[in-house]
Amino acid sequence: MTRIFERDLQYGLDTRAIHAGQEPDETTGAIMTPIYQTSTYVQPALGQHKGFEYARTRNPTRDALERNVATLESAKHGIAFASGLAATEAVLKLLTAGDHVICGENVYGGTHRLMTQVLGRLGLNFSFVDVRDPACIAKAITPATKMVFIETPTNPMMHLADLRAIAEHTRAGNGEAFFVVDNTFATPVFQRPLDCGADLVVHSTTKYLNGHSDMVGGIVVTSNDEAADQLAFLQNAAGAVPGPLDCWLALRGIKTLPLRMRQHDASGRRIADWLVGHSEVRQVYYPGLPDHPQHELACRQMEGFGGMISFEMGSLERAKAVCERTRLFALAESLGGVESLIGHPAIMTHASVPEGLRQSMGLSFGLVRISVGIEDPDDLVADLEQALEAARGVD
Ligand code: PLP
Repeated sequence: MTRIFERDLQYGLDTRAIHAGQEPDETTGAIMTPIYQTSTYVQPALGQHKGFEYARTRNPTRDALERNVATLESAKHGIAFASGLAATEAVLKLLTAGDHVICGENVYGGTHRLMTQVLGRLGLNFSFVDVRDPACIAKAITPATKMVFIETPTNPMMHLADLRAIAEHTRAGNGEAFFVVDNTFATPVFQRPLDCGADLVVHSTTKYLNGHSDMVGGIVVTSNDEAADQLAFLQNAAGAVPGPLDCWLALRGIKTLPLRMRQHDASGRRIADWLVGHSEVRQVYYPGLPDHPQHELACRQMEGFGGMISFEMGSLERAKAVCERTRLFALAESLGGVESLIGHPAIMTHASVPEGLRQSMGLSFGLVRISVGIEDPDDLVADLEQALEAARGVD
């Protein structure tokens, strides 16, 4: 299992993003971690090796990424996977058939699908609760509960969960449950769940960490030695590992993560404010808005609000008119890249969530989600302006 370099902890987040977990290459002095594009390693003698035997088990490029992200989250260990969902699946495989998981009802649609359609079939039991009320966790805990899994802010309704309160309820429950947070939306730049009492943090590195929409990956970080050991075992035993090039792309992307997040946040705030004042927009969901019902929690728990905004257009036809008219905001799944994206959660990212549950959360056919990139914010506003014009007059 990959352990961080303790010396990196003396540095601030911007420095960690660039340097943590990395050293100049021993053979050449190359300042950038090489892409160790190999499946195996030559052993000098039978039973002897340099810590690397086979690349599913360990790869030096992957090691550097694992140390880097773990250090950003103030964790001791990182375990990288082939996708965000593979990381979530590995975390759930810490459990055994018959165990019970409490999950936020408004998680990413693919996470919901993995739980209900794959791991539910294999014997795990799930309860989905509204994490805005931490007391829901206490009410849902049973003697079989072994995990509480949440996202905050949630995708795409921008609900927040009080991390410290949920950590307390989880601990006070039956004392045996892991508290897991998917920190993909906020990133360690704006929120560090382990510092608030979480046991494990999951990321889709595909999103903000990589930031350039050119790879798919995931990672779990934790300071729990035993859980890290089991996750490293699962990484090798189940084999959903990321390739070295993808690890390298994530590692390179992370070097500018703090810088990018500051711009996503600045442009996100500006565009959310602007959308609130637009006559064609019925409702804006963004934790940075003073009238967001959990704005006070957002200010207390987060160091920025980021670039994810959802807004209600009132009908599928009006949402469609906007989604199909933007030029800079590309109509595409995913989020967190330098380029702006627009999406329709009910038809795209959350199509696998049952319609009843979608409706009860306000995830309607009129809802549009944008991932605000780091282009010139004036251009982004102008693009939305001309697209919203298309919705005028549509019912
Ligand atoms: N977590 C969140 C919050 C996501 O938005 C996504 C994907 O959109 C995932 C996890 C899954 O990540 P991946 O697509 O890398 O499997």
